[in-house]
Amino acid sequence: MSNHDPIGALEATVVPRFAGASTFARIPTIDAVPDYDIAVLGVPFDGGTSYRPGARFGPMGVRQASRHLRPRFHVELDTAPLEQLQVVDAGDVPCTPYSIDDAMQQIEQAAREVVGERDRRLVTIGGDHTVALPMLRAAGEKYGPIALVHFDAHLDTWDTYFNAPTTHGTVFRRAFEDGLLAEDKSIHIGIRGPIYDRLDLVDDASFGFRVIRAGDLDVLGIEGAVDVVRRRVGDAPVYVSVDIDVLDPAFAPGTGTPEMGGLNSRELLRMLRALDGLNIVGADVVETAPAYDHAEITCVAAATVAFDLITLMTKTPAITPEPASMTAG
Ligand code: MN
Ligand code: MN
Repeated sequence: MSNHDPIGALEATVVPRFAGASTFARIPTIDAVPDYDIAVLGVPFDGGTSYRPGARFGPMGVRQASRHLRPRFHVELDTAPLEQLQVVDAGDVPCTPYSIDDAMQQIEQAAREVVGERDRRLVTIGGDHTVALPMLRAAGEKYGPIALVHFDAHLDTWDTYFNAPTTHGTVFRRAFEDGLLAEDKSIHIGIRGPIYDRLDLVDDASFGFRVIRAGDLDVLGIEGAVDVVRRRVGDAPVYVSVDIDVLDPAFAPGTGTPEMGGLNSRELLRMLRALDGLNIVGADVVETAPAYDHAEITCVAAATVAFDLITLMTKTPAITPEPASMTAG
């Protein structure tokens, strides 16, 4: 064990970061420790993609880029995250690429198994955005209706696409219909780009979402936007979903549906880090498609976002799950 630090991660001063384990940030696997509080879970599914496929290779691309992280200490959040709670890499969910419905069931089942009876939490690495739906279902069973803080260029609240109800562009309408979202607590950040119809915006508002468009950040500033988000979610259990296409294609080219005019990396990190102290019960970073990436730009961004999400979670003790009582929305 001399190659490992006290919490089981590979020691970068003994084994250089470009060598050794291929787990996220070289943290231990789920089998290597007696118990754990937070699990990184890869979901290599992109069957809900509407444009460029390839996010199925996201989990391993993000893991590879995450070697570059130095996870022992997070300077901006002033904490040693891996010493606060036990974090593990739970590997990838084996899910079929041929049936969206079957894959959703496999992903939800895997999420339930990794979380188990305890207050363990997941940071999911996708996969396309469809994978957020089974994660919200698994978290909803444990925590009841959840406030969704959703970073994305797109609303993802369409009804259907080519008659398919479950796609990466429809997940949050399905979540609303399932009663998974707390009333008037959820918010989209970074929205921009074309839509098919003005009705898309009307529908989205009727589901109780607030929107901070990418251009709104020029007016609100990051601090103003963070204030809106924090007041919006209050003390509700929060699920943070980061579609990497919230970043401008200059900062995240490796994704399926890039839209110009997005956030820069520093803006996204500042907004994420300002969520410090919220009751984050689950999170994901999705839509990384390494085949369109260059020099690991997008994979490094997604790995850094995932590490920030983990660190935010380690700073807030898990809230005790209460039996969910949800009604169809
Ligand atoms: Mn999305
Ligand atoms: Mn998107």
